[in-house]
Amino acid sequence: MNDALLEFEIVVVGGGPAGLGAACAAAECGRRVALVDDTPWLGGQIWRGQKGRPRQALQWLERFQRCGATLLDRTSVIAVPRPGLLMAECEAEPREIRYANLILATGARELFLPFPGWTLPGIMGPGGMQSLVKNGWPAQGRQVVVAGSGPLLLAVAGGLRKYGANVLCIAEQAPWPRVIGFGLGLLAHPSKLWQGAQIKSRLIGVPYRCGVWPVRAEGSAQIRSVTLTNGQTTWTEECDLLACAFGLVPNVELPLAAGCELKDGFVRVDQWQAAGAKGIYCAGEPTGVGGADCALVEGQIAGYAAANQPARAQALFARRASWHKFRAALAAAFALRPELKTLAAEDTLLCRCEDIPLGQVRQHESWRDAKLQTRCGMGPCQGRICGAAAKVVLGWGMESVRPPVLPARVRSLILKTNNSQLHSPDN
Ligand SMILES: Cc1cc2nc3c(=O)[nH]c(=O)nc-3n(C[C@H](O)[C@H](O)[C@H](O)COP(=O)(O)OP(=O)(O)OC[C@H]3O[C@@H](n4cnc5c(N)ncnc54)[C@H](O)[C@@H]3O)c2cc1C
Repeated sequence: MNDALLEFEIVVVGGGPAGLGAACAAAECGRRVALVDDTPWLGGQIWRGQKGRPRQALQWLERFQRCGATLLDRTSVIAVPRPGLLMAECEAEPREIRYANLILATGARELFLPFPGWTLPGIMGPGGMQSLVKNGWPAQGRQVVVAGSGPLLLAVAGGLRKYGANVLCIAEQAPWPRVIGFGLGLLAHPSKLWQGAQIKSRLIGVPYRCGVWPVRAEGSAQIRSVTLTNGQTTWTEECDLLACAFGLVPNVELPLAAGCELKDGFVRVDQWQAAGAKGIYCAGEPTGVGGADCALVEGQIAGYAAANQPARAQALFARRASWHKFRAALAAAFALRPELKTLAAEDTLLCRCEDIPLGQVRQHESWRDAKLQTRCGMGPCQGRICGAAAKVVLGWGMESVRPPVLPARVRSLILKTNNSQLHSPDN
C-alpha cells in the first residue's frame, strides 16, 4: 500500500499504556480510531516483547484487539505539516494520516549524562539493556553494575539477574532518606508496594547503595571498570557491562511540533488532557513521569474526552489524582543531585554522534548557537541524547523543534498534497 492516505476521527500516536488506554476508550465509544506506533509490538517501553508480559498487559492487549481500533504499527509519525494531518513513514514508505482529534502518547526515553568514559562499548541505558536481554541478548555470567537513578534501576537489575547476569551492585544517586520516604509512601499504592517487594526478593544479596553515583568508566575496546563515589569515598568496581541512566526524559518533540506548550519541561494539559490547539490531547510520560498506571488512566481520560464522553472521563479524575501524587513523590525522591552536572571533563564527549566535547559546546551561548557552530545535536539522535544532557549540565532549553521529529527518508518529507508544507510551529 504505497503513499496511502488514511483518515480517522481520532488518531492516537504511541502504543504504550497511555496510547492503549486512549485508543480503547475512544474506540469503545464507537469512534473510528487508529493507534500508530513506530515498533512492531504494542505495549510501549514497559510491555514490549513477546514473552513474560504481566497479566495487566495481556488484559489491555486483548481489550485493544476487541475495541475495533485500527493498528498502524511500524509507523513513525515524523511531522505535523498542518492541523488535521500527520506525516508518517511505514517501512520506508511515506504515509499521510488525517485526523479530527489527535492524542499524543509518545512516552519517554532514558536520560544519559556524560562522565569520562560514558561512551565505551558495554555501557547502555538500563531500559535498553533490559530490552536487549528480554529479546535474547545473552546476559548469562556477565558482570553488571547498574547505576543512575529511579525505580527502573531495581526493575532492570531484577530482570538481568533472572537472565543469569551477576549484578554486582546498584548505585542510586538519590540519598537514603529520600528513597526510604518514597518507599513508605508506596503504602498508599499497594500494587506498587507488591511490585517493589517482588523485585526486591529477586535482588537478595545485591547491594543497593543510595547516595552513590558513577564518576568514571575505564576500558579500551570494552568497559572494564566503573569508579563510583558517595561524595566522600571513591572506589572501583570491575565489570563488563554498565547499565546507567539518570531517569527518563519526556518525548515532547511531536507534541511541540503539533503546537503544544511545555511547563517545566512537560506538556501542559488541562483536566481533559487537552493540550493547546483544538482537538489535541496528550497523555502519559510527555505530561509527567508517573509510571504505567498513571499513563493508563490519563490515556483513558484523553480517549473519552476526544470521543466527547465527558462523564466517562470525569469518572476517572479521582484515580488520576491519586497517581499524580505518586508522580510528584517520584520526582521529589529521585531529583538529580547537583554533583551530576560536573562529572564531565572539558574533553568528555557531550554529543557522541558528531564527536563534540563538552568544552567546545560550552563556549556557545545557547543550544541553538552551539548547534549552528559545532553540529552538536545534528547527528542520528537529532539531539535526543545530547540535547537532554545539555539541558541538565548547561541549563539550556530546547527553543524549538524542527521536523522531522524522528530520522526519516527525504522522500517521506515531500508531501503529495499541494496545499500543505512542511513547517515547524515557529516558521
Ligand atoms: C527504555 C525504557 C524501559 C522501561 N522499562 C520499564 C520497566 O521495565 N518497568 C517499568 O515499570 N517501567 C519501565 N519504563 C517506564 C515506562 O515505560 C513508563 O512508565 C510507561 O510505559 C509509560 O507509558 P507511556 O504510554 O506514556 O509511554 P511508552 O510506554 O514509552 O509508549 C510510547 C510509545 O510511543 C511510541 N512513539 C513515540 N514517538 C512516536 C512517533 N513519533 N511515532 C510513532 N510512535 C511513537 C514509542 O515507540 C512507544 O512505543 C521504561 C521506560 C523506558 C524509556
